[in-house]
Amino acid sequence: MFTFEVLPPPKGSGIDSVYDAIDPLMEFEPSFIDVTYHREEVSFREFPDGRIEKKVLRKRPGTVGISAAIKFKYGVEVVPHIICGGFTREETENGLIDLHFLGIHNLLAVRGDNLPGEKHFRPTKGGHEYASQLIAQIHDLNAGKYLDEEIEDATPTAFTIGVAGYPEKHAEAPNLKSDIRHLKAKVEAGAGYIVTQMFFDNTKYFDFVRLCRKEGIEVPIIPGLKPVTAKNQLHTLPRTFNISIPEDLQREIEKCSDNRSCRQTGIEWCIEQSKNLMRSGVPVLHYFTMGKSQSIREIVARVF
Ligand code: FAD
Repeated sequence: MFTFEVLPPPKGSGIDSVYDAIDPLMEFEPSFIDVTYHREEVSFREFPDGRIEKKVLRKRPGTVGISAAIKFKYGVEVVPHIICGGFTREETENGLIDLHFLGIHNLLAVRGDNLPGEKHFRPTKGGHEYASQLIAQIHDLNAGKYLDEEIEDATPTAFTIGVAGYPEKHAEAPNLKSDIRHLKAKVEAGAGYIVTQMFFDNTKYFDFVRLCRKEGIEVPIIPGLKPVTAKNQLHTLPRTFNISIPEDLQREIEKCSDNRSCRQTGIEWCIEQSKNLMRSGVPVLHYFTMGKSQSIREIVARVF
């Protein structure tokens, strides 16, 4: 079994690019499709007179609409991501009500990153600081507890909640142990499963699962995978996602003379990772497509 994620297209583009990413994978019957959420970004525009204008823009809106469109077009379960950053609790509640009315009952709840240029994640006034608080809010709604305490006999929602886990620890965590303690808090707040950050060495995943179990985390832990598809990713992926690239993979990629052979090397590595994880009995594999599914198609076709 496998799942994958798609990104909303940049503002101004149509939804066809999302369908183009999904179509090649549907014949392999994904268990569900995630749709990522992208918070606002800050950019600066300089005018000829020297004035600088700050612009705050959401460049990839549409997660809820795209999730509903995918669900109804393909008849597949969807998992929109929902984030803390940029939202008050009230806005979050209203977004959850939209999803509830659309019949979308699976969510992946994450905090989101800091805005570019900000040193630390800053919660929105009246919003959540950590994903565990967002999960607690969703859990409350599942119990029919809305923010407005005067609402009586409220309809409970029925969300299943997934959360993010980090086999090589989250970038801000002082150590893996404290990160796993905070992960446990997300499970205690109501998360039903964990999807991991990408990793390229399966022992990182197996060690992480062992540590989670030791800490008393019992929910399924779905491994997240991505093939390296270009040489520059040897640097960009570790920097962006706080992950490491094993030496063997680094050597193989560095030997490649062009992007095509690089991509093929990354795909072969990911296939071996996938097969090894499946043999070890993981519940399902999750693939990060980064909006492009052709490499994932080649992997899935040889693994499933
Ligand atoms: P949290 O669980 O809140 O943890 C953030 C940090 O705070 C960690 O270092 C943790 O150890 C620490 N911490 C937690 N609780 C406490 C506490 N009580 N006291 C002190 N420290 C604490 N981002 C997006 O913007 N959109 C997406 O769609 C998206 N999808 C993702 C999907 C997956 C599978 C993964 C792995 C990540 C995804 N992200 C996404 C990225 C995610 O938003 C970032 O990694 C973010 O920096 C952390 O999110 P979190 O939910 O893990 O945060």
